[in-house]
Amino acid sequence: MTMDAAGLVKIIEAVAEKIGENREFLTELDSAIGDADHGINMSKGFSAVVEKLHSQKIDDCGAILKTVGMTLVSTVGGASGPLYGTAFMKAGQAMVGKSSLDFEDFVTILDQALEGIKYRGKAQRGEKTIIDSLEPAVEILKNEKTSTDKKSVMERALNASRDGMEYTKNIIAKKGRASYLGERSLGHQDPGATSCYLMLEAAIEKIKDMCKSA
Ligand code: ADP
Ligand code: MG
Repeated sequence: MTMDAAGLVKIIEAVAEKIGENREFLTELDSAIGDADHGINMSKGFSAVVEKLHSQKIDDCGAILKTVGMTLVSTVGGASGPLYGTAFMKAGQAMVGKSSLDFEDFVTILDQALEGIKYRGKAQRGEKTIIDSLEPAVEILKNEKTSTDKKSVMERALNASRDGMEYTKNIIAKKGRASYLGERSLGHQDPGATSCYLMLEAAIEKIKDMCKSA
């Protein structure tokens, strides 16, 4: 699996589309334990990202990811803007100078994104946040990045992410707005863990598609 800058832009477009399709769903989840803006925040941010990427052609994969991060920081309100913004900027730093990406780069991007979110939000797994659906996937990808069956590794990573997202229903929020609810946050799926799973799903679907047609 390798992709050039145009391939990376296609993946980001697929992520943006998925977020747009789930705008109401994410907002509904956030209305139960937050302030009902997560879907609105995220779809606004990703619309701006797509517009920005279409307004200029960038050949450097690191610069593309940094542009995504900066656009999210400047357009997404709430906690998720700086968190996802930092994730993409941190991933971009690690990809500077690359005009194409391979599977190991994809793993590094997600690992750096996780580091960025942890650095910015100081959350750990089990606190009902984005981390709960991202870290399980990153662990599998990192442990198995040299496997010859990349498709299976990506599918297992995505399943682990889905399990992590679903597990957020059974835990109490310790970070962000939902933490104000304490035990009343139980029984509700975390919006951020959900948007992160959906982004991963869109990215992995697109990568598998691109590999098929390559
Ligand atoms: P806000 O809570 O400011 O309205 P959003 O609704 O856009 O922001 O995003 C809420 C999501 O942000 C939560 O569901 C949670 O997953 C995530 N989140 C909040 N705080 C943190 C944190 N410190 N680390 C990681 N994710 C967090
Ligand atoms: Mg909110």
